[in-house]
Amino acid sequence: MGVAIFLRKLKFKLIFVGVGIFLLLVSIPAVALAFSYSAIRWWSTTTYVRYDSSVPDSWQSSGALYNARRAWNNAGSKFRIYYSSSSENVVKAGYYGKTDWIAKASINYNLLGYINQAEIIFNRSYPWSTTGASDYYDVQNIATHEFGHWLQLNDLYSSTDYYKTMYGHAKTGETYKRTLHSDDIAGIKYIYGE
Ligand SMILES: [Zn+2]
Repeated sequence: MGVAIFLRKLKFKLIFVGVGIFLLLVSIPAVALAFSYSAIRWWSTTTYVRYDSSVPDSWQSSGALYNARRAWNNAGSKFRIYYSSSSENVVKAGYYGKTDWIAKASINYNLLGYINQAEIIFNRSYPWSTTGASDYYDVQNIATHEFGHWLQLNDLYSSTDYYKTMYGHAKTGETYKRTLHSDDIAGIKYIYGE
């Protein structure tokens, strides 16, 4: 299966009328060309996540989800995602049919543009592996991308963005998104500081 597929459609559960203005403001810095930022962010640079029982045990025991978080934790910004069994932020998995997404991230945020809850959902109607096996989507590869949405980097679709974690399409057997591109790193540093 070499068919590229959209990774996610970000859904905003709370409409914030000021978003358009924020987006205009952050489109000004030239640095934003290398990554795309929604202008919505976590207030704190420390966030927590738990894994729902719908997530296969092997996705944790293999280190796939941990390594995905670690990529962002080690990027040189102040931002951290830690595990906490009591977190309201959650990774889930389920069977949603062969839709146009294999995984997606969603957030709730307040009127000041600060995120107060986030979720990632994996679509198990597609085949998943933790080893980068061909014909399977790689959990760590996609989780790293989705955590990028969690901290509010957006999808990129230009051909010059291909080797970035935030490139918005993925293929089976693909693992390069596990490793952040310098522009992904520039993005997290821009949002959360160094
Ligand atoms: Zn995406």
